[in-house]
Amino acid sequence: MNISDPIQNLKGVNSKITKQLEHLNVRTIRDLLFNFPRRYDDFSVITKIKNAKIGETCTISGIILSIENTRAFRKRMTITSATISDGERTIKAIWYNQPFLIKNIHKDQAINIAGKVGFQQKSLVMQNPAYEVFNFEKDTTHTGRLVPVYAETRGITSRWIRLLVKNALPFSSQVEDILPKEIKEKRRLINAKEAIEKIHFPKNRSEQAEAKKRISYEELFLIQLVILNAKKQLESLGAPAIKPDIEFTKKILKTLPFELTDAQKKALWQVFKDVEKGYPMNRLVEGDVGSGKTLVALLSAANAAKNGWQSAFMAPTEILAIQHFYEAVKVLGDFNLNIALLTASAQKVYEPELKEIYSPKKNEIIKMINSKKADIVIGTHSLIQDKVGFKKLGLVILDEQHRFGVDQRAALIRGSASVPHLLSMTATPIPRTLAMTAYGDLDISLIDEMPKNRKKIITKVVPSEKRKDAYAFIESEVKKDRQVFVVCPKIENKDDADLTDRQFNTQEIKAVKDEYEKLSKKIFPHLRVAMLHGKMKPKEKEKIMKEFKGKEHDILVSTSVVEVGVDVPNATIMMIEGAERFGLAQMHQFRGRVGRGEHQSYCFLFSESPSEVSLERLKIMEKCESGFELAEYDLKLRGPGDFFGKNQSGIPDIAMEALINPRLISEAQEDAKEILEKDPSLSKYPKIFDRISKMRKEVHFE
Ligand code: ADP
Ligand code: MG
Repeated sequence: MNISDPIQNLKGVNSKITKQLEHLNVRTIRDLLFNFPRRYDDFSVITKIKNAKIGETCTISGIILSIENTRAFRKRMTITSATISDGERTIKAIWYNQPFLIKNIHKDQAINIAGKVGFQQKSLVMQNPAYEVFNFEKDTTHTGRLVPVYAETRGITSRWIRLLVKNALPFSSQVEDILPKEIKEKRRLINAKEAIEKIHFPKNRSEQAEAKKRISYEELFLIQLVILNAKKQLESLGAPAIKPDIEFTKKILKTLPFELTDAQKKALWQVFKDVEKGYPMNRLVEGDVGSGKTLVALLSAANAAKNGWQSAFMAPTEILAIQHFYEAVKVLGDFNLNIALLTASAQKVYEPELKEIYSPKKNEIIKMINSKKADIVIGTHSLIQDKVGFKKLGLVILDEQHRFGVDQRAALIRGSASVPHLLSMTATPIPRTLAMTAYGDLDISLIDEMPKNRKKIITKVVPSEKRKDAYAFIESEVKKDRQVFVVCPKIENKDDADLTDRQFNTQEIKAVKDEYEKLSKKIFPHLRVAMLHGKMKPKEKEKIMKEFKGKEHDILVSTSVVEVGVDVPNATIMMIEGAERFGLAQMHQFRGRVGRGEHQSYCFLFSESPSEVSLERLKIMEKCESGFELAEYDLKLRGPGDFFGKNQSGIPDIAMEALINPRLISEAQEDAKEILEKDPSLSKYPKIFDRISKMRKEVHFE
């Protein structure tokens, strides 16, 4: 028998169990061995009954003096109760609705029970304890140790899985150990076989830690190899060498009513250095909303244009694309550049000679792009449609880059003759550990400094009893002529992961509509309330956004998706509904929508009866102003799932956890570099080569 055999070949697995295991993605014996425990029950303390303390968890060994089923008719359940003696004292075990137990365990048998000790009717008792018939020759499985607890599915409990894993453990010797011996010695890592055994049945916490370290190290090491390989491949490609035109850039800067911040200057300089080289830049500019990333991007595009190269600037939404277009015209309008906007429903061209914006047909714009008449093209996904083929694409700018998939990037590149430079921008702060792994193939420029004129935003978590006061305050602000954003989360749904995009949108839109109804009819009937959501036509959205900017509405209710990046300096209040459902870093981005003008701004977080934990989490927002710190909190409190979308990345849970271990990441990175230096094609490590080839296909962080 072989580790790759189908699971039904394993002892104890019938066709019913095979089906159930399939729900856990377990199809082969290997899958079962790599289905790691979610957590462990610590039943390792074995005590005499006389030493058992009420409230503590332990294992007790004894003989069953009596066992019987009784029926509690009113509650319609069967109660199995047993009295167990260890020779000195007795303890009671009680199980609910497991009448079959008396077939498995009976009077005079030696048994272990494990669980929390309680006290009931003058007797020590364990409710629903784990149990196993005692056998001197065998290790315990369910009691008397750290007991693995697995993800369960209907009809198959952890208890079942434990037994199956025990049957499968002999196959762990067939697990390929891909790590070179030197690395294992240097990093004190155990063998693969040992790691598999110990992750399931560790003797103690330190064995469990050893196993976890080994398994996560392997994942991190492979991730680093994939990243380093991707970087190397990129460097082997040719890209236009774009010379920085400093004089030209200075001329543009002189026309701005402000100076660049030091962080902006540094980021721009890093971009200039990158595009000068003959291979493609892959840089991420990361900075809070309003930190001036767009300007850095526009100056980069202008520099490319001056060198004769076109830029494609892709925004995640039409509204943002339009905003960027006007910003581009404002900043670059006097410098003889042809600027175009192409989205599903909006087409505009800025003609530098006439200094005029006009709206040509879509086909005409595409012609301008394909003939290189357009220097800077701003748009949405429309830029990757079939007919668009940039003649001389030198630079691709992606706003909020992780909204674009790998394929879409590839499609943009496909149109052009050479590989363009890539500049991504994001307001999502990326924790350091993720920067080294998930985003490791990107060079990162941090804009960690805000333009000088920005004011601190006052943030408050609003309990339900203070909601009225908050509404009154909002009203008083509106009376002062200020405006308000309201962001709603989608309605909670247990099966979110299974929702199609359309269903997902529908839910979010319902939440927005409800909120809109409530605010416009009940709370602020005399104020002007507008709403914005993903299902509206782009034209409608644009119209509403324009009206809001032009102060025709006091309050704008919207979904989180539509909201990102839109600039309304007169808005001073950001109100977030269902705040407990958002990540801290995400709320920080919403908060960045206000505080852009001269007035004091506020951010109110509404949460109906939040748990203590989530209230504490929300309170962090009141004190913390740094997106990076907030992102680190998110990572700690919610795990890396927030950054990638759960179950989307193809990374095993255990490696996900390792993504917050900076030391292990550094070590893996160091080792990966070393091995690639010695053997760039990994010809001496065919097993590693296979694994990273597979990984490249499976793992994606977008
Ligand atoms: P981001 O894209 O990072 O969210 P933007 O580039 O949209 O930020 O900048 C927000 C606003 O700040 C824009 O109106 C922009 O013109 C302005 N701005 C950019 N850089 C500076 C600066 N150094 N000083 C003052 N204002 C700036
Ligand atoms: Mg922006």
